Amino acid sequence: MQELTHYIGGAHVKGTSGRFADVYNPATGEVQAKVPLANADELAQAVEIASKAQVTWAAVNPQRRARVMMKFVDLLNRDMDRLAEALSREHGKTLPDAAGDVQRGLEVVEYCIGAPQMLKGEFTDAAGPGIDMYSMKQALGVCAGITPFNFPAMIPMWMFAPAIACGNAFILKPSERDPSVPLMLAELMEEAGLPKGILQVVNGDKEAVDAILDHEVIQSVGFVGSTPIAEYIYGRGCSNGKRVQCFGGAKNHMIIMPDADMDQAADALIGAGYGAAGERCMAISVAVPVGEETADRLIEKLVPRIEKLKVGPYTGGNDVDYGPVVTAAAKANILKLIETGVAQGAELVVDGRGFNLQGYEDGFFVGPHLFDRVTKDMDIYKKEIFGPVLSCVRAQSYEEAIGLAMDHEYGNGTAIFTRDGDAARDFASRINVGMVGINVPIPVPLAYHTFGGWKKSMFGDLNQHGPDAFKFYTRTKTVTSRWPSGIKEGGEFNFKPME
Ligand code: NAD
Repeated sequence: MQELTHYIGGAHVKGTSGRFADVYNPATGEVQAKVPLANADELAQAVEIASKAQVTWAAVNPQRRARVMMKFVDLLNRDMDRLAEALSREHGKTLPDAAGDVQRGLEVVEYCIGAPQMLKGEFTDAAGPGIDMYSMKQALGVCAGITPFNFPAMIPMWMFAPAIACGNAFILKPSERDPSVPLMLAELMEEAGLPKGILQVVNGDKEAVDAILDHEVIQSVGFVGSTPIAEYIYGRGCSNGKRVQCFGGAKNHMIIMPDADMDQAADALIGAGYGAAGERCMAISVAVPVGEETADRLIEKLVPRIEKLKVGPYTGGNDVDYGPVVTAAAKANILKLIETGVAQGAELVVDGRGFNLQGYEDGFFVGPHLFDRVTKDMDIYKKEIFGPVLSCVRAQSYEEAIGLAMDHEYGNGTAIFTRDGDAARDFASRINVGMVGINVPIPVPLAYHTFGGWKKSMFGDLNQHGPDAFKFYTRTKTVTSRWPSGIKEGGEFNFKPME
């Protein structure tokens, strides 16, 4: 069986802790590799290498640093198929979806090519008599990132590209479920010209994460994953004096107004609810039609579309709409929540519980599910399911619908489908959610805007990518400068007698 490594000091390094985690092929259920789980000593070695390398890297001019990003973009495009295949094999998502995962990371790398512009400071001429004042944006030093399984290419790049473009060294602790692509990205960054030790991958679980949170040299921690872990990392990281940003779970509502184009809304819900088996933090998991008649029309449109969904392994190519979920434990958790939905009285309109794929009986496939008449008190409404399960909550008015989304503890993404500009505008203005779609079901902002939720979906002050990333990965130093008045008249040629 393949034994994966860490990537430390520019080389693949075997784990020394003696602890490993299994990496599955979710389509077959087979263990295809084992990944080492680092201990605090292994993490400390990486930090030592990073802190030495970082000083030289920060002194490289920003444009030269940006050239590494330019070359890295070329290499990502060159290796797109290889990366997508490795990603699908460990994660389970379809190949086009895996290429999209790489692509949305690549776009942030492209944005970071503009780092020299983003890192320019500010200057006030003559802030006082003979006094100038200027502010510099300096690198933090050694930064770390802890990433989830569901975007093993995109989210690491969202973190390390801006961090490194700003002159930091970066230690990535990827998800232990799908660590191969992060290792490949580190190799490619070095092929693009990045000095050794600036991007390192330390694989691991809670032990490695705690070592990151407690290491005094590490200046900042970025985290993306579930809310309980986000809260934990934010608390421990901040109390250790680090700069921390943590992005957590989600329960994204899509409101369907009576005037919406119902075919468009149903198509959008299929992609946003079931794409990537619902394992997206921006997936729509709650549909909120306004009015009984809207709800009936929506369900009527949804059911045949859901029944046509093709579930299968990534090797099925374009014949597959979504693949398996990531682990047997994830599948068990989804099925358990579905049972609570049934027990608590929701109407299971599309029942995917009996789903079985011939030849892939041991894979972690979950058939598509649709619940109707879900209510606020049910577990399937309150909890993030992170699977191919859509819940329909019928609202009697627009106010009730917006109130549902506003009262939910998560606030990552949301959408409204309507032809009424006034309703859409009111929704965008009042809703307490970070990313809003108007007739767009998955409103993921592009690289030059910022990504981040509100409420329990985000802990910290600055979002991911866009201008916020350059704030998060630098600190400001302001210099107030006065020079003694010098010789302005030119040389003196006449001998002056002493006074
Ligand atoms: P997770 O919280 O289980 O794991 C995320 C990371 O934390 C992994 O690297 C993991 O090794 C580490 N970790 C797990 N348990 C830990 C512990 N007890 N102590 C310290 N570290 C620990 O999340 P996941 O299952 O990999 O990813 C799915 C979750 O991520 C979902 O909740 C999803 O909504 C969320 N997510 C959020 C965003 C966002 O931008 N808000 C984006 C993607 C995913």
